[in-house]
Amino acid sequence: MPRTKTISIVGAGLVGSLMSIYLAKRGYKVTIFEKRNDMRKMGAEGGRSINLALSNRGWAPLKEIGIDNEVKSMIIPMRGRMMHDEEGFLTFQPYGREGQAINSISRGGLNELLMNTAEKEGVEIKFEQTCLGINFDESLLFLDDNGSRKEVKSDVIIGGDGAFSVVRRLMQRTDRFNYSQHFIEHGYKELTIPPGAGGSFGLEKHALHIWPRGQYMLIALPNKEGSFTCTLFFPFDGDPSFSSLKTDEDIQQFFEKVFPDTIRLMPTLLKDYHSNPTSSLVTIKCFPWVKNKTVLLGDASHAIVPFYGQGMNSGFEDCRVLNQMLEEHNDDWDKVLPLFQESRKPDADAISDLALQNFIEMRDLVADEDFLLRKKIEAKLHDQYPKQWIPLYSMVTFNENMRYSEALHRGNMQKEIMDKVMSQPDIHKNWEKLDLNPLVEELNTKINS
Ligand SMILES: Cc1cc2nc3c(=O)[nH]c(=O)nc-3n(C[C@H](O)[C@H](O)[C@H](O)COP(=O)(O)OP(=O)(O)OC[C@H]3O[C@@H](n4cnc5c(N)ncnc54)[C@H](O)[C@@H]3O)c2cc1C
Repeated sequence: MPRTKTISIVGAGLVGSLMSIYLAKRGYKVTIFEKRNDMRKMGAEGGRSINLALSNRGWAPLKEIGIDNEVKSMIIPMRGRMMHDEEGFLTFQPYGREGQAINSISRGGLNELLMNTAEKEGVEIKFEQTCLGINFDESLLFLDDNGSRKEVKSDVIIGGDGAFSVVRRLMQRTDRFNYSQHFIEHGYKELTIPPGAGGSFGLEKHALHIWPRGQYMLIALPNKEGSFTCTLFFPFDGDPSFSSLKTDEDIQQFFEKVFPDTIRLMPTLLKDYHSNPTSSLVTIKCFPWVKNKTVLLGDASHAIVPFYGQGMNSGFEDCRVLNQMLEEHNDDWDKVLPLFQESRKPDADAISDLALQNFIEMRDLVADEDFLLRKKIEAKLHDQYPKQWIPLYSMVTFNENMRYSEALHRGNMQKEIMDKVMSQPDIHKNWEKLDLNPLVEELNTKINS
């Protein structure tokens, strides 16, 4: 397809905006249609600070498009998990080797940077234009443009319109389109720890804070101005749950009992609890992602629960992979689109499953003695055999050149070996004397068989 062809992207979210930059750099004429108004004029997130964990898979594309230096000035590196127990005692678990960190970044700030960069590259972003329909045979987009209906013809249409994608819903009406959605029993609510005096941080700045409590948890990520955005992941029903905490007294007593060290840090707890929404968490899987010249990217094709901090990162990786394929196949979209969905789907499924598993790890296991010992042994294995044995978290988070599906596969093999190690009697006493070499050899044999 000659480079002067036109591409329409539905959604100026994180993924749609990033993909538009890649495509504008390749020479396409790109227009984004976004249903909301321009967050740069209206202020993102209604004045609330909402942050995300950006890790290596998200960095790689930001570097490729040349905005990594700007992004660096927006992040706070988080070098590990800081666990808060019910007495308020703290334990720090590093995420990886020295220097490795995930990065807290403002969702609105990153989205604005991506939109500004897109416009500098010549992308046109049209706000308050909602996608209503698509004629897939003709690549025709039907839009609501401030109350009037409009048609736009393009060579390629990209659905970057998020978890409740209209583009995907329209594909669902076509033949042999598979779709599933699954809501977990937990929802989430954002709460705030405001900055201390002079913009100081009320908790350790370079950590992702977790209050693991078995069936639920609270987490907190730092913001540049000294505040923390906290998220309570909590069941919708049962006791305790969003439905059991009704009055100010219920909420106050619950936090005093279960998250005691947060009380002095959250002066607006009751106000935030009542005014911030309780939102649900969904996993969405579908296939195919491509219909003629329309393709889904990011949450539109694979919305996942947030417990691995990989939703945006995996969406950014979609953009990087699609761009690489266009490069390798001389922008032959007829070749690239089927290849893209075939190759990317197993990776999206892998991170979707890993994200669900990690909820159990975060809310429960991070405070479990066996789990902590397992982590220590794996860290030792990784120290001595850095190329052969890489903890699953590191493969997913810090290894942007390993596919998610491979990380999941290797992680499962490592888990089988570690399950045997952990079942040894007296392992808690003898772990330092363990002979690690046979474990690595067993792993190599499994990988090569
Ligand atoms: C609580 C929570 C915490 C998270 N934490 C992390 C994290 O730490 N790290 C991480 O990597 N990911 C995280 N995620 C996931 C991340 O937010 C998503 O994966 C990411 O936002 C997906 O980007 P997207 O561009 O595909 O979709 P979105 O960000 O949802 O953008 C979609 C855009 O499309 C627009 N749109 C929708 N419908 C239409 C239409 N009909 N016409 C025109 N425009 C339309 C929307 O207005 C929006 O601007 C988290 C998610 C949640 C819920």
